[in-house]
Amino acid sequence: MNEYDSELVKSILIDNQFELTTREEEAEVIFLNTCAIRENAHSKIYARLGDLKKYRKSKKDKVVVGLLGCMSQNLRGELNRNENLVDIFAGPDSYKRLPAMIHSVSQNGKKEYDFSLSEFEDYSDVYPKRIPGVNAWIAVMRGCDNFCTFCVVPYTRGRERSRTIKSVVDESRQLAVDGFKQVTLLGQNVNSYKSEGDDFADLMQAVAEVDGIERVRFTSPHPKDFPDKFLKIMAENPKICSHIHLPLQAGNDRVLEMMARTYTRKNFLKLVEQIRKTDPDVALTTDIIVGFPTESDADFEDTIEVMNEVQFDAAFTFKYSERKNTIAWRTQPDDVPEEKKTERIVRLVELQRNHSLIRNQAKLGQTLETLIEGPSKRKPDEWMGRTDGNKIVILPKGSFQPGDMVMVKITDVTANTLFGDAILTSGNEANEAKI
Ligand code: SAH
Ligand code: SF4
Repeated sequence: MNEYDSELVKSILIDNQFELTTREEEAEVIFLNTCAIRENAHSKIYARLGDLKKYRKSKKDKVVVGLLGCMSQNLRGELNRNENLVDIFAGPDSYKRLPAMIHSVSQNGKKEYDFSLSEFEDYSDVYPKRIPGVNAWIAVMRGCDNFCTFCVVPYTRGRERSRTIKSVVDESRQLAVDGFKQVTLLGQNVNSYKSEGDDFADLMQAVAEVDGIERVRFTSPHPKDFPDKFLKIMAENPKICSHIHLPLQAGNDRVLEMMARTYTRKNFLKLVEQIRKTDPDVALTTDIIVGFPTESDADFEDTIEVMNEVQFDAAFTFKYSERKNTIAWRTQPDDVPEEKKTERIVRLVELQRNHSLIRNQAKLGQTLETLIEGPSKRKPDEWMGRTDGNKIVILPKGSFQPGDMVMVKITDVTANTLFGDAILTSGNEANEAKI
């Protein structure tokens, strides 16, 4: 979401006669777009501001520095107390005011703040300045009304609001013209999308109908909003990727209730069963938090059990970190010792590695449609692409180009990666010369 928001900010500034530079020494204005979701994001921003302090001095303080996004509000108080480091603080709904804020700082040297959260701002009138490539993000809804007790998003990004289907489809058409092959629909709670009587299933279907867009993905959904209608549309429509990121957070009912996740372990497992019944090949990934207040060893074993039962394709695992203003921060001491959190996360990572390997081994010998994204990071003379299920595939370059859809026979796997060779199948004869 932050990468997408940075693209919005770039576009707003360019439309107001600013120019972008990738060279810091040329910049007259520098923005850091911040994330508040976990504590380590906070620490990174402090380190980066330390570097910028030296830079500003070398430019005799003539550079305007701005903090954008979810942390700006938290950091304002802390930074203002003893440092003159940041000129502009702007929250996620204030980006259209940035040009005026920059002018005001340059003209009268006063700091500018805007943290107001809007019930309506959805930036549907801004076409983000994207880096050309294969995938483009579109934020189709912003904000979150769920108030999970550990989460700061409802406080930093405000209430849920959705763009119209028409505006998302128009933008997707333009993306196809600009050469993008895949659209990823974004939202903090993306499947609670609602606009003019249309729901998320209607939206996905409409985007998948756009000519030139070959794949549609979405993230991050909440397990509470998966009606049968959506699962059916997903299974029936080949352009809608067979991948669901389904954040579990915890496997113990008492902990889930304390988190206010609104589902039980049983409901979650039932949903997984239903998803796999509708689409047996679906890739399932998840987010898990260890060490939520009061989580005991036995509670944690329930998380392990659910993981064993589901066998996710991948998992993002986090140690609970207390976020200011959240319900858990107000009502629950962060009482699981750091060593316990470390012990638990190490176990989860290890277990997930085994599951990812098992899930990937099942792909050995299969032929999978792969969208090439660019050079492999480790071996730049090979291509990196992704399957429908979002798994990374490495293959020889042949004369393929990023954006090509290639049938790849999987010959080797690790827990993180599939390896294979492009092959000819009926229907992809066009690739014969490129193999
Ligand atoms: N909307 C998504 C989650 C978005 S936040 C959902 O409802 O599942 C991304 C992930 O960050 C969360 O799934 C959670 O696992 C993690 N996270 C959020 N707040 C956290 C906190 N206070 N401590 C640790 N992890 C947290
Ligand atoms: Fe945070 Fe996701 Fe819960 Fe919203 S649904 S409060 S974004 S964890």
